[in-house]
Amino acid sequence: MLQGSLRMTHLQFHITHYTLHTSSPPSFFYINTTTNTFTRNKQKMARALIIGCGAVATVAIKKCCTASEVFSEICIASRHRENCEKLAQELRPNTKTVITTAAVDADKAENVSKLIKEYKPDLVMNIALPYQDLAIMDACLECGVNYMDTANYEPENIDDPEWRKVYDKRVKEQGFSAYFDYSWQWAYKEKFEKAGLTALLGSGFDPGVSQAYCAYALKHQFDTIEEIDILDCNGGDHGYKFATNFNPEINLREVSAPGSYWDTDANGKGHWVEIPAMSIKREYVFDEVGKKDMYLLHHEEIESLAQNIPGVKRIRFFMTFGQSYLDHMRCLEDVGMLSTQPIKFQGQEIVPIQFLKALLPNPASLGPRTVGKTNIGCIFKGTKDGKPKTYYLYNVCDHQECYKELGSQAIAYTTGVPAMCGAMMVLTGKWNKPGVHTVEEFDPDPFMEALTKYGLPWKENFNPVLVD
Ligand code: NDP
Repeated sequence: MLQGSLRMTHLQFHITHYTLHTSSPPSFFYINTTTNTFTRNKQKMARALIIGCGAVATVAIKKCCTASEVFSEICIASRHRENCEKLAQELRPNTKTVITTAAVDADKAENVSKLIKEYKPDLVMNIALPYQDLAIMDACLECGVNYMDTANYEPENIDDPEWRKVYDKRVKEQGFSAYFDYSWQWAYKEKFEKAGLTALLGSGFDPGVSQAYCAYALKHQFDTIEEIDILDCNGGDHGYKFATNFNPEINLREVSAPGSYWDTDANGKGHWVEIPAMSIKREYVFDEVGKKDMYLLHHEEIESLAQNIPGVKRIRFFMTFGQSYLDHMRCLEDVGMLSTQPIKFQGQEIVPIQFLKALLPNPASLGPRTVGKTNIGCIFKGTKDGKPKTYYLYNVCDHQECYKELGSQAIAYTTGVPAMCGAMMVLTGKWNKPGVHTVEEFDPDPFMEALTKYGLPWKENFNPVLVD
């Protein structure tokens, strides 16, 4: 009886708000009053609100639907509900996951809070843009819900004087000038701790899997890790002269920024070293891809790894780029097309980089045309049992295989799968630590197991070629 009446309350809510957009709800379930997740046939069931329905979210959503025993219900929400509904309609016939959709502008916390109060999720998966991170975290705190995302906060308007003040201070104190950094989200640590909620930051590939690889290496392969090189190689070819593999605005901001890495001085004090954009270039032969040029970039996980890997002395991040990509990017930058500053054009206000985004191929559309493989991983240098040791942990992913499986290219695939696996860790209680945390702060084993199961197995090399 108790089970029945609780189920009715829950279903009535669904019927009121979501009848037009759901498939049938699960046959029976009851509420576990201590965890507020649902249990069916002794399986933990959970409800996730997924904000964003772009290239990465589409992969994550499709993967959630293959794991209905955990993701028993999901709500897909973005500003354009029609996109969410289109994907939901494609997926409903082949999944037990109950899918609903909603329209939300996540730039405002109150909009997200309203949706959370209606949908009552166990977790909010922010797979929209980094611009929305803080608003969604605020809403999660207000409503008492766990949070996760795939990229750390940066503001849409980098000319906002309030933000600029904090940014200028950070550049001076820390010594790196990227527009994104963890300080904004780390500032929520105490609030999430007090609320007993988990916020998992950056559960994509890099950030995300790259940090799980570091935690795994530290747990299983090393006593101490002194140097980490994160190598991100995309050996794929989409046939366009110029296109970005994920959101163009975020991608171009990231790669056109000055590079930086973490280093340690003679007194053992760690610090940032900043260099002009693309000024450190190396050549590397990647397994299953071949020889590529790669460039040192600033990347967000360096910031958290420098704090969380004890004794680490140097952390660098390299990404491969072809000459054509770099030439196009430099030219676009030189003519002002990467600017986020609105300009007046024929009586209308436009933001150059947003206009450029409208001209470029949609990253979600690159799947059918992209051939080749990605190879992303970490090379470690350190000690084990008093002896020096090197170790390379990486994943190789084939663009066409991803397309055959899910209709997406490998960049979206390698980000969407860890987003879903990270969410699964939080929802199943494997990664449950009140506060605001990055991936390396959790046990890597169940996450890496899930990555293998859902499409991203890892490879190891115990004698890798090192990057000089
Ligand atoms: P897309 O541009 O393809 O999709 C963005 C989605 O966010 C769209 O569905 C859009 O829908 C939605 N969105 C944008 N603004 C809002 C808003 N105000 N409110 C609600 N929804 C909004 O981006 P990607 O899928 O390529 O990237 C998604 C995220 O993944 C980004 O944060 C990116 O930085 C991150 N990423 C992380 C990587 C990693 O390895 N960690 C690698 C690659 C990407 P709509 O317009 O309908 O609102």
